Amino acid sequence: MEKIQMTTPLVEMDGDEMTRILWKMIKDELLLPFIDLKTEYYDLGLEHRNETNDQVTVDSANATKKYGVAVKCATITPNAARMTEYNLKEMWKSPNGTIRAMLDGTVFRTPIVVKGIEPCVRNWKKPITIARHAYGDVYKNAEMRIPGPGKAELVYTAEDGTETRELIHNFTGAGVIQGMHNLDNSIESFAKSCFEYALSTKQDLWFASKDTISKKYDHRFKDIFQEIFDAEYKEKFAEAGITYFYTLIDDAVARIMKAEGGFIWACKNYDGDVMSDMVSSAFGSLAMMTSVLVSPHGYYEYEAAHGTVQRHYYRHLKGEETSTNSVATIFAWTGALRKRGEMDGNAELSAFADRLEKATIATIESGKMTKDLALITTMENPTVLNSRDFILAIREELEK
Ligand code: NAD
Repeated sequence: MEKIQMTTPLVEMDGDEMTRILWKMIKDELLLPFIDLKTEYYDLGLEHRNETNDQVTVDSANATKKYGVAVKCATITPNAARMTEYNLKEMWKSPNGTIRAMLDGTVFRTPIVVKGIEPCVRNWKKPITIARHAYGDVYKNAEMRIPGPGKAELVYTAEDGTETRELIHNFTGAGVIQGMHNLDNSIESFAKSCFEYALSTKQDLWFASKDTISKKYDHRFKDIFQEIFDAEYKEKFAEAGITYFYTLIDDAVARIMKAEGGFIWACKNYDGDVMSDMVSSAFGSLAMMTSVLVSPHGYYEYEAAHGTVQRHYYRHLKGEETSTNSVATIFAWTGALRKRGEMDGNAELSAFADRLEKATIATIESGKMTKDLALITTMENPTVLNSRDFILAIREELEK
């Protein structure tokens, strides 16, 4: 069999622990036998980040700007325990944070839906993708405890010294206050990433906020989305047969519980934080969530939504068998390969990505799965496979 050729390399960001082990198995069994795989390799494993003073993370983000598409393995975000475990020079920042800041992107998380792993919400038939605005609001707030009676105000001092004030509250007793902000630039990037991703996946886009209560703050979000949509996306959406839909957050939540799925839900920072956990757990498993960082400049970075599965890795190091779910990591690769195929006009590459996804889903639907899925499936007598055998079962399905 002739291998599928690639014209432009993918930016490959290797990672840590159990997902690093899966990474190699996926390449060896599911990619290299079928594709003449071209990648520009960056080792984001913690040891190499430490050796390079984290320069490798910056280099990999720059490469993503150059080539447009990256695929990333889960990586350790160091904490105190990792400082000693890896003898680190510094508590390096989260690679995802660094990359996101450099690409100015929005993260879209999508559950992988298979028969036999049923969502808790019965009418959800298709995935619901959550886009979370990852800047500002309560995550960059300033807070104060108010000890007793007194006046609290918002004060903006312009560069020329003029002040604008807004009364928050005349306190007659103790209480609390907080100030938060967002930036037009950041909201615009968020909106553009959402519109681009909706077009690229041909799904409707929903956005919701509380603009009836927050008449300036949330309203600004609503206005920016609408202005950008009207100016740049209205016609493209009509051509693609998709819609942009704004509603109040409470209405959105009610509709989503009754919906079938198959759309993108753009959320403000806090809403996205809370709702993405609700949606992912309602769909079944963190191990079945993919994640893609979409920059408003048209760069894409694909990964699994889960971490490095540390507990399984320690078992693996002891020579014990593991049954780690590789589905989200496989879908990170297929997402990246399909996008590369689209950008390069390489239909064969995109078709391969589709086939690999189908083979992965068919494997699970035939009853072969990893332990985490066996614990939640509605199928009777599933076959529980170890990490490698699950990947080999997918290969067998793919070669059919
Ligand atoms: P985790 O996602 O690795 O694990 C959370 C829980 O889900 C664990 O109980 C784990 O057993 C289970 N789980 C997750 N993925 C699974 C899979 N594929 N198969 C079977 N079970 C799975 O998160 P954590 O334990 O909080 O973090 C471990 C490490 O991962 C940390 O060092 C953290 O910094 C890192 N992390 C990285 C990313 C990323 O790179 N995107 C995201 C989250 C956490």
